[in-house]
Amino acid sequence: MIVGAGFAGYECARTLSRLAKGAAEIVLLNPHDYFLYVPLLPEVAAGILEPRRVAVSLTGTLPGVRLVLGHAHDVDFDARRVSYTDPEGREGSLSYDRLVLTVGSVNKLLPVPGVAEHAHGFRGMPEALYLRDHITRQIELAGAAEDPAERSARTTFVVVGAGYTGTEVAAHGVLFTDDLARQNTGLRDGPRPRWLLLDVADRLLPGLDERLSRTADRVLRSRGVDVRTRTSVKEATSDGVLLDDGEFLHSRSLIWCVGVRPDPLVDSLGLPTDKGRLCVDKFLGVPGRPEVFACGDAAAVPDLTRPGEVTPMTAQHAQRQGKVAAHNVAASCGQGSPRAYEHRDLGFMVDLGGVQAAANPLHIPLSGPLAGALTRAYHLLAMPDNRIRVAADWLLEAVLPRHGVQLGLLSSWSVPLDTETPEVARLPHDPPETA
Ligand SMILES: Cc1cc2nc3c(=O)[nH]c(=O)nc-3n(C[C@H](O)[C@H](O)[C@H](O)COP(=O)(O)OP(=O)(O)OC[C@H]3O[C@@H](n4cnc5c(N)ncnc54)[C@H](O)[C@@H]3O)c2cc1C
Repeated sequence: MIVGAGFAGYECARTLSRLAKGAAEIVLLNPHDYFLYVPLLPEVAAGILEPRRVAVSLTGTLPGVRLVLGHAHDVDFDARRVSYTDPEGREGSLSYDRLVLTVGSVNKLLPVPGVAEHAHGFRGMPEALYLRDHITRQIELAGAAEDPAERSARTTFVVVGAGYTGTEVAAHGVLFTDDLARQNTGLRDGPRPRWLLLDVADRLLPGLDERLSRTADRVLRSRGVDVRTRTSVKEATSDGVLLDDGEFLHSRSLIWCVGVRPDPLVDSLGLPTDKGRLCVDKFLGVPGRPEVFACGDAAAVPDLTRPGEVTPMTAQHAQRQGKVAAHNVAASCGQGSPRAYEHRDLGFMVDLGGVQAAANPLHIPLSGPLAGALTRAYHLLAMPDNRIRVAADWLLEAVLPRHGVQLGLLSSWSVPLDTETPEVARLPHDPPETA
């Protein structure tokens, strides 16, 4: 049984089903019926990709795997049972012989007043869809506003956290709002929408190669993004954001991309953790529980290429760990021998929208259209399905104006920042979370 169908869980299920050839029952428990290709989520928020393009059908692409829709909330390791709640609120439980925990991560909060109430995260599909509609709505309301102060606040977008998520959201966002403003009679002659990207670090993309930071910085500034490093948020209100240097930015849009923390399920298991991630050995096994494995963002996997460190929370690692976990599950059932997880980073690709990207495949620094083309090619290859659909959207984007409509299906309260389940939108009858 695999809990969580993200990069690690999906790859684990796919590999196991190939290895088992029908000789094992493989159950995949996940709250929704798709694998979310998270790296392209900023393109959904910017109206380039339709949401279903980045959602790969689990039942359609994983033959031999039984999908159970549900959110796991408890694991009884002695009884070998996982309890879950299904999308209609019904309780259920499943027993297992082998368990792989791949529940990923959720938005990280910082104790800044007002942020939980007024900011939105960027980790799941509902948040990306909310943001797409919210941005479109702000531009439309600004176009109709008589008051210049309101117009300015509605066209000011603040992104906090300049890791790859925040950088990509700001890079795509500014192109999106420029397009929307050009199409809006009320804004066509007005000042351009304003984007700010803030980080406490002294450069964009902290933690990645400095050459990627320099490229991203240059591209964002050339588009007019106000990049502010060594800057943090002191308070958020419904009118805007107070910075630590005392400046108040009037805005209706605070996008919180300060990072992620492991899924709270991990904390509730009563097993040893390292910074909230479940401790595992180099074979991705949970010590003392030979039938339990864990990997991806939710697990602290020893990084054999950097002794003493754990692998970073990236798709690159999660996907490969899922594959190794599958082999080790098979080995624990007598098929093959266990493999230690070892992977040296192959570089990173940061999609900056338009034809731009900052990339260092195999640690060769690239920028400009070549990096942009490579980044898109990489994503197409890395996606397990939907490639033609994604490529078709990119083609349409190249020849047609941006499709600026908001469906308004998600409200601000349905995508709270502080949530254990960023993968599903909150509904009016949902009980409050007890995190
Ligand atoms: C905007 C953005 C862009 C990114 N770009 C890149 C990139 O370019 N390259 C890169 O390497 N990394 C990138 N990352 C990071 C990458 O997406 C994560 O490291 C990766 O998704 C982790 O994979 P995972 O399988 O551990 O978790 P996830 O992919 O998050 O999957 C976890 C799954 O578990 C499910 N789940 C959660 N809780 C439960 C539960 N209790 N019960 C059942 N199911 C549950 C979730 O619904 C989800 O399906 C990006 C992240 C973001 C947010």
